Amino acid sequence: MSKFQKKNFLIILISPSGGGKSAILKQVLCDNNNIKYSISYTTRKPRKTEKTGIDYNFVSDEEFHKLQKSGDLLESALVHGYWYGTSKKYIETELNKGHHIIMDIDVQGAKQIISKIDDAVSIFILPPSNKILIDRLIGRGTDSKEEIEIRLRNANNEMNEITCFQYLIINDDFDKAVKQVMDIIKVEENKINRYKNIESDFYGG
Ligand code: 5GP
Repeated sequence: MSKFQKKNFLIILISPSGGGKSAILKQVLCDNNNIKYSISYTTRKPRKTEKTGIDYNFVSDEEFHKLQKSGDLLESALVHGYWYGTSKKYIETELNKGHHIIMDIDVQGAKQIISKIDDAVSIFILPPSNKILIDRLIGRGTDSKEEIEIRLRNANNEMNEITCFQYLIINDDFDKAVKQVMDIIKVEENKINRYKNIESDFYGG
């Protein structure tokens, strides 16, 4: 193993709801045990298959606002009518353990993080077309008609912000999209500014 020490980093995946980022993220996590998932807080109620502490930390509005006030959230945003936020403590702990952190957050939250953490990596995942996005949202059968309409409206707004982010992946092929995320992570790992002490690691070795 290389004796050169590197800094770990945040990988932010952004996409309209139904863009396929959750499936991509799951596969990346499955293939890489040095990457951990940022478990967000949300005031949304759990769906049938979701578990607290695994998919989200499900909290009440009151608990969420307490976390916001005490500065425990790296970012927070109201998305589709519910609050979502990233735990600062969890991120710090996992980065210190030597893991990269992958995050599934909305555009507002992603922009907050980018403004605070300049070496975060942001990847926008786009479905191949608006029609395919609509078909996916209807096909997954997890949301009501009203919720789907809200999600589609938000998707249009999110598209307007696409140039705020660094990388774009068109998700027309699942395996290809997963590989592209991994390729980006590998390239980012080799940036000069990820290394902590190149000279002392080199001359001292
Ligand atoms: P869902 O309720 O379908 O799991 O997620 C709805 C939206 O909330 C998705 O776009 C997801 O990326 C976003 N989201 C999930 N966790 C967070 C978070 O911690 N912060 C922000 N800003 N958005 C989040």
